[in-house]
Amino acid sequence: MTVFDPELRQRSRAARVAMALLRLSHAVKAISSDEVKGLGLTPMQAQALLWVRYTKPFLASVGRLAQALGVTHVTAIGVIDALEREGLLTRETSQDDRRVTLLRVTPAGEEAVQRLERFGHTLEEALAGMDERELATLEHGLGAVVWSLRAAGLLQVAEACRGCVYFRENVAPGTSEPHRCDLIERFLSEQEARLACPDYHPEHPQGLLSLAAE
Ligand code: SF4
Repeated sequence: MTVFDPELRQRSRAARVAMALLRLSHAVKAISSDEVKGLGLTPMQAQALLWVRYTKPFLASVGRLAQALGVTHVTAIGVIDALEREGLLTRETSQDDRRVTLLRVTPAGEEAVQRLERFGHTLEEALAGMDERELATLEHGLGAVVWSLRAAGLLQVAEACRGCVYFRENVAPGTSEPHRCDLIERFLSEQEARLACPDYHPEHPQGLLSLAAE
């Protein structure tokens, strides 16, 4: 039985929540189109640009961008080509692995990122009527859904290093790369540690969002 069936929704809270999430996904598409109106970008191009801007430079590969957008490699290439034609992104070969192409935001891309500062705010504003307690409950519940979808391989969740089980903070104090990642066995600068990583692995997945806010 589908969650589109109102009788099922009357009986099942999970079905009601699933339907609410489906409705939200439709709204998000409309909101995203509205938020990039007049900026000369599609919502997917805007997401791609923001992803590259806020992901650790050595992880900002074409393949990971495709995963983050939930599209095929070919579709991601099309998005990157368009951003490159506009002078917003460039590609470079990874020094660590010559088979990997990394993406970089150009100065013009940085300006476009500034113009995208309100991207996502409509949803944030829609939550403004909830108090802190309600928001915390929603945050916890949505966190559980997000991490279960990630465990099923349906979603990429990128976060900054703090709170990740592989993060070792300030193991080389006084150096330009004081932190270390035990997963990729690499030292990290403070700036790198603050950028998102698709391999982020929280100790307590459901508490991710709360941890990030602390
Ligand atoms: S795996 Fe964890 S510690 Fe390593 S770079 Fe990614 S977020 Fe940082």
